[in-house]
Amino acid sequence: MNYRKEILSQIYLYMSDVNNMAPFPIYDTGDMADLKKMIDTIEYDEEPVECCANCKSLHLIEEEGKTHCMKCRTTDPEIEEFKNIKDYLSQYGDIWDLKDEKDE
Ligand SMILES: [Zn+2]
Repeated sequence: MNYRKEILSQIYLYMSDVNNMAPFPIYDTGDMADLKKMIDTIEYDEEPVECCANCKSLHLIEEEGKTHCMKCRTTDPEIEEFKNIKDYLSQYGDIWDLKDEKDE
């Protein structure tokens, strides 16, 4: 399971527990259903990935029409694109000491 999906699942479980313990649902049950649906359909692993071509960081922020790399502090850096996170990790995972655990 990918990291974001895992965190959202934990949050969902926490909210469910709180709702079950309270005399009435603290968290809106409609919102809970929407969150559950979102968690079930998330597949971040297949989403395209962009990184800063200068330092290879994924931490890019867009602000007022400009892109900022939060690692090397470049404004509007050249962007490298990858089909998904696996492609990125196979090329630059070593830089961050991150490797795709499930090497196929
Ligand atoms: Zn950078």
